[in-house]
Amino acid sequence: MTIASLNDLICAPRLVLKVGSALLVKDGEPRAEWIASLVAEIAELRANGQQVIVVSSGAIALGAARLGLKKGGRANLADAQAAASVGQVALAQLWAEALVQHGLTAAQMLVTLDDLEDRRRYLNAAATLERLLEAGAVPVVNENDSVATAEIRFGDNDRLAARVAQAAQAEGVLLLSDVDGLYDGSPDNPDAKLVPLVEGVTPEVIAMASDASSSGMGSGGMKAKLQAARIAERAGIALGIVNGKTEAPIVRLRESGTGTLFLPQRKDNARKAWLGGRQALEGVLTVDAGCVAALEGGASLLAAGLTEVEGEFDRGALVSLHGPKGERLGQGLVEYSAAECRAILGLREGEQEAKLGYAPRAAVVHRDHMVSG
Ligand code: GLU
Repeated sequence: MTIASLNDLICAPRLVLKVGSALLVKDGEPRAEWIASLVAEIAELRANGQQVIVVSSGAIALGAARLGLKKGGRANLADAQAAASVGQVALAQLWAEALVQHGLTAAQMLVTLDDLEDRRRYLNAAATLERLLEAGAVPVVNENDSVATAEIRFGDNDRLAARVAQAAQAEGVLLLSDVDGLYDGSPDNPDAKLVPLVEGVTPEVIAMASDASSSGMGSGGMKAKLQAARIAERAGIALGIVNGKTEAPIVRLRESGTGTLFLPQRKDNARKAWLGGRQALEGVLTVDAGCVAALEGGASLLAAGLTEVEGEFDRGALVSLHGPKGERLGQGLVEYSAAECRAILGLREGEQEAKLGYAPRAAVVHRDHMVSG
């Protein structure tokens, strides 16, 4: 695959198209002509037999203007939630009216982080998406901002788009943004160059990105886009970041081929891809060098290799796994509570029962419930 594959990405049989706030809204009003131009392109993709899921931001920006809230409705969580609930009505109407011009039916889906973290709710959301696509609708997804609290929000639609792509088993995600893609330095630096192709979101790649959203309107920023790229790459999904500012952004992308493409790095099975894309970490387990080598060989994480336990969590929690230098190894579902983990820290199998008061489990994190990266 080369950068020309951005075109292959557009041709993905099932494509998630994420549209940022700065593209949809200007001075509190919808950019109606731009939206019409994009929807005409979606209709064309559909006519070519592709299925498209839209992940649309813009609710907070639209609602803030209608309520006269400062800082685009992002001054605090209560403002953002009020703005989102007003703006979401307008946003849904906008998509529905634009799509119906082409004989297409919009389907609104509002999801919270928890909906996709919990396996049953995730499968339920996946089934709804599948049914909607089968029935010919265009799902328009956004975060349910008006109810999600700070702790359980995605907060950005970039990661939401990657998670939705996973749930829908899409082949590609296209993040339409107001930047050209990932630069190898600050975009203000004239020497910074656009990175056309990324094969693996490594720490070096992450170091290129900043947190802030360039428009100040969305909450995305390049860091969130890279997190989205990580979720996608391990689920076997290609992800592109492109500038969508001009009208008919997909035609422009086909012509210019400008953007950053993140190639899929592996294809975890569906359950592991879901686990690897989970976001709500509840603790950190640090292990010694011997354990790192064992994990790399595909072993389960055993208490003998455990050197530190951070956080308070129950059995079944999602924890991050770190090596001796704090380097991240992956994440998994822990078989013990934090207190139990601390009790058996560094102990071999024969030494654990006396501490626990019952027969130990086979592992602290079983390899079937663990993903690397
Ligand atoms: N869900 C937010 C909205 O509709 C946008 C989140 C983001 O900026 O990515 O306004």
